[in-house]
Amino acid sequence: MQTAYTKDELRAFLAPMRGRRIVFVPTMGALHEGHATLMRQARSLAGEQGVVVSSIFLNPVQFDNAGDLAAYPQTPEADLEICRTCGVDVVFMPTPDVMYCADRSMVMEENHLSTVLCGASRPGHFAGVCLVVSKLFNLVQPTDAIFGKKDYQQLAILRRMVRDLDIPVQLHGAEIVREADGLALSSRNVRLLPQHRAAAPQICRSLRAAAAAYAAGSAVESVRESVVSALSAIDGVRIDYVEIVDAETLHTPVCDNRMALLAVAAWFGEVRLIDNIELVRA
Ligand code: AMP
Repeated sequence: MQTAYTKDELRAFLAPMRGRRIVFVPTMGALHEGHATLMRQARSLAGEQGVVVSSIFLNPVQFDNAGDLAAYPQTPEADLEICRTCGVDVVFMPTPDVMYCADRSMVMEENHLSTVLCGASRPGHFAGVCLVVSKLFNLVQPTDAIFGKKDYQQLAILRRMVRDLDIPVQLHGAEIVREADGLALSSRNVRLLPQHRAAAPQICRSLRAAAAAYAAGSAVESVRESVVSALSAIDGVRIDYVEIVDAETLHTPVCDNRMALLAVAAWFGEVRLIDNIELVRA
């Protein structure tokens, strides 16, 4: 496995690979089994002849909260070991100075899907995501890229970006990887206090119960309310949002014949957790 710290090193590695299938998994580091699963999927999609590229870049531009950026865990050595064991061929690990010119002045704004859910409470976040992902796509020029459904809204917005800007890459959505108790794996989980870590699986439990109720025909609002009341009952938890939206447009109304998405964001103490589940009528 190669490590590229500069854009030129990355381009030099990839130059002889053009024409092959290039599968890309962007990350912000502090890698866990969720990321590892995406990388293994990338390896199997790329096959023997293809190339798996991953990036580890804690993108300052997508953080709307300086404290969250400062507290974000960074474990570069362990990250490289995970990439190696998952069959990644090259890891791009730039610093912010390598990634961005000091006087950069381009913005990448999506203005429909980004206005709701996390976009409503994290101004500028998805513009930062679109900026960095479009830069990474231009550098890597992958044939395929894999993103987790854990960040469902991010995946929907990136699909829109690729569609609207005719970026020649095929996006793949990977299922959410969870702890045995249901908590969705996240780099932020290590920051949870013990009492919040103990309560956090309640998110997944309430989502699964809600999905079963939805499948059995319960009304949208009562399904949503069931999650609100389950989470409100936990000490020290503050709900950011609990919403049921169309899984593609991320807006309401929800039609019974289309897939819906139940999405949650909640503060467990100082840590903001997100989770979601797709809803279908049985
Ligand atoms: P991040 O490092 O948090 O930006 O995540 C990098 C990629 O890994 C994104 O596509 C995430 O959606 C994905 N990811 C993070 N956590 C999980 C998880 N628990 N299950 C599946 N994918 C995940």
